[in-house]
Amino acid sequence: MTAWTLAYDGFDPTDERLREALCTLGNGYFATRGAAPEAAADDVHYPGTYVAGCYNRLVSQVAGREVENEDLVNVPNWLPLTFRPEGGDWLDLRRVELLDYRQELDLRHGVLTRFLSFLDPQGRVTRVTQRRFVHMAHHHLAGLETSIVPENWSGRLEVRSALDGRVTNAGVGRYRLLDGRHLVPLETGEAGDDAIWLLVETRSSHVRIAQAARTRVLRDGEPVAVRRRTVREPGYVAHELAVEVREGEPLTVEKLVTLYTSRARAVAEPLGAARKWVARVGGFEELLERHIVAWGQLWRRCRMDIDADDHEVAQTVNLHVFHLLQVVSWHTIDLDVGVPARGLHGEAYRGHVFWDELFMFPFLNLRFPEATRALLAYRYRRLPEARWAARQAGYQGAMYPWQSGSDGREETQRLHLNPRSGRWLPDNSHLQRHVNIAVAYNIWQYYQVTGDLEFLGQLGAEMLLEIARFWADIATYNRDLDRYEILGVMGPDEYHDGYPDREEPGLDNNAYTNVMAAWVLCRALETLHLLPDHRRLELEERLRLRQEEIDRFEEVSRKLRVCFHDGDIISQFEGYERLQELDWEGLRRRHDDIRRLDRILEAEGDSPNRYKASKQADVLMLFYLLSADELRALLERLGYRLEPAAIPRNVDYYLHRTSHGSTLSGVVHAWVLARSDRARSWSFFTEALASDVRDVQGGTTPEGIHLGAMAGTVDLAQRCFTGLETREDVLWLSPSLPEELDGLDFEIRYRGHWGVRLHVTPEVLQVLVAGSDAAPLKVGVKGEVVEIEPGGMREFPL
Ligand code: BGC
Repeated sequence: MTAWTLAYDGFDPTDERLREALCTLGNGYFATRGAAPEAAADDVHYPGTYVAGCYNRLVSQVAGREVENEDLVNVPNWLPLTFRPEGGDWLDLRRVELLDYRQELDLRHGVLTRFLSFLDPQGRVTRVTQRRFVHMAHHHLAGLETSIVPENWSGRLEVRSALDGRVTNAGVGRYRLLDGRHLVPLETGEAGDDAIWLLVETRSSHVRIAQAARTRVLRDGEPVAVRRRTVREPGYVAHELAVEVREGEPLTVEKLVTLYTSRARAVAEPLGAARKWVARVGGFEELLERHIVAWGQLWRRCRMDIDADDHEVAQTVNLHVFHLLQVVSWHTIDLDVGVPARGLHGEAYRGHVFWDELFMFPFLNLRFPEATRALLAYRYRRLPEARWAARQAGYQGAMYPWQSGSDGREETQRLHLNPRSGRWLPDNSHLQRHVNIAVAYNIWQYYQVTGDLEFLGQLGAEMLLEIARFWADIATYNRDLDRYEILGVMGPDEYHDGYPDREEPGLDNNAYTNVMAAWVLCRALETLHLLPDHRRLELEERLRLRQEEIDRFEEVSRKLRVCFHDGDIISQFEGYERLQELDWEGLRRRHDDIRRLDRILEAEGDSPNRYKASKQADVLMLFYLLSADELRALLERLGYRLEPAAIPRNVDYYLHRTSHGSTLSGVVHAWVLARSDRARSWSFFTEALASDVRDVQGGTTPEGIHLGAMAGTVDLAQRCFTGLETREDVLWLSPSLPEELDGLDFEIRYRGHWGVRLHVTPEVLQVLVAGSDAAPLKVGVKGEVVEIEPGGMREFPL
């Protein structure tokens, strides 16, 4: 096992869906789970292919109610490839004796390889090597190469290569009562001598999806004549090939597949494009070479070299960058999509976009700002929908949905199933209005890193001002306190959606929401100053933004209410101190895993709303997003004092009351403890690293990776361990490596500088600036700012 390979030995049916998720291959346009090509969806396997932004809406009957859900669609399976000796059984791992089985994901090159050899009931031994890619340069293309060696037999081999559009969305057990039939089969056919094609359409969004597959058989690199038969069924098409094989002589089956939807760019219609390109592309080997070059370029930009004794750390960090780049790549830039919380790797959370981008953008901003810009444009295009949602709820400005899909309406389900109790329960998580803060924060961070005033003026400012408007309007004035309050919302901690004694859901004065709303209002005011006069005027006219409203931004940003208890503990929300302490020990004794204590308590007829118990960081998000100085200044502006000693007290207080039911929690806790308790911080970091590779939540990763935690861990190495901040046109650095790391080395893009290489060891920080005609780079270390000329290097002893 190396830092660049994820390998599995042996076939383990109980682990297969996890491996499929972790071995997913994608290119930012579409992704395919690492399922066995000969398998269809059953209790072991779940092949799935998802195209970024391809959603469909269906209505189902659940618990006596009609519920509507929009899902990222599982599009036709392009993988199917199986074989049999004439008269034998099609390959089924459960019916043969496996002699050897290994699966390797090559992270550097984006190639998944499977090696197996088996003995069939007739005593024949066959060895198989399968390689596949989802092409990183030609984003409508995927390839699967199967090399078959009959070890002790000769005779006729039959191969079946298919495109299967009969698939449904059935990858998440909890959703099984919901309708998952998103595809309508339209047509199938053959093209030329060696290709088949399939056309389907989504049931309500009417996206047409076309695939074409070209299957060729080669011996020693030369095409072999085969007998071909086409099998067609509604939504399914296959080529069956028959060829003579000889003992010990390898035979290669090459399947190349094109995938186009009616939303693709530079395409007249998807089927024509799929057929045209499948005929034009070269062979597997040549395509693989170009694919590897594309990955090489991505890695040059995005590598995060970690020097640690524990090799698994570097390996997992590479795996996390790899999956992030398979969901967000240069092919994403041309799309109108956000990043699904669970990647393009499975169906959990239906491919919806949450606030998790908050954890992904910091890595992307410093490597791929053009991608984050495109992802922010997804939000911009949905501003009318967010305005509409605010208006419907009785507010000004824009209210972005907690879960976003195709058109930006609120996609959060209104009922969810507790698999423990089997009960369908009201889901109030849409009250997490703080998603608006994440959108604003991401806009500001992007601007800070790039200095892209053009973007801020064109798209960013309008969203920021509309979001600020929302916060200024939802805040109500409390005359007795001379304070503004935000009532009836939820913070990031999803275990609290209301007060135990109040019928209406929602909480008052969630500290994270109120403090960050004040932050958003400040940034909106700052943006108005940053914009050139003519653009500011245009925006004020366009948004009918009057001086009184701007005055209100100022006023509310100084008077939002924050509650405290037990001295200087920031109350997660008003009244938090009145909740009961949870018997954590008792619960731990009764249950192996208490991460999802909401489900445990509900199944016991209780509710987490009664307790001081959080699913994930809520108050502590403030320390994650803002530096201690920023937070202190912000609270001071609000008229509160936060002594430096209060920070560790708050961290400690909430740490004792959090179950880490979200993988995001480990990232935040690793961050906030990084400078005060390095040992604990490291253990949160390694726990967050393990989230998906070890499926720490016991069964969630097979349904899709946790991209926020994946990117968040990489960002811990990038920004937290180096103390990297982008403020006032200066790249601030203040490294503090965990003891377990001997060094870090990576390159970032910052304000026109393409290659700023940071090399950190416990003793020294080196900053190397690539040659260019950009202005000198301003770097701040230990309070002092120095300028480094392009082509120059500076060393800072630590
Ligand atoms: C977390 C949210 C997160 C969502 C999607 C939930 O479990 O509580 O904070 O946005 O998962 O990842």
